[in-house]
Amino acid sequence: MALRNRIAHPLYTRHIRHDRCDRCSAAAQMRALLPTGNELFFCGHHARQHEPRLREIGADLSAGS
Ligand SMILES: [Zn+2]
Repeated sequence: MALRNRIAHPLYTRHIRHDRCDRCSAAAQMRALLPTGNELFFCGHHARQHEPRLREIGADLSAGS
C-alpha cells in the first residue's frame, strides 16, 4: 500500500518520495497517514497550515526527507 505511487514515475524517485500536495500542485514535503488509513500529502506551506488539525485527529506525520 505504501508503494502505491512510487514505481510509476521514475523521474520522481530520485526526489524524496514526491507525490504532490493535495491542496495545490507543489511537490509534497510531508506525508500524513490518517487513522482511517488514508494518506495525504502537503507542501511546506500547507503542511504548516494543516499540521495542528492533523495532529488533533491523530494523523501520523512524516517529513519527506
Ligand atoms: Zn500545497
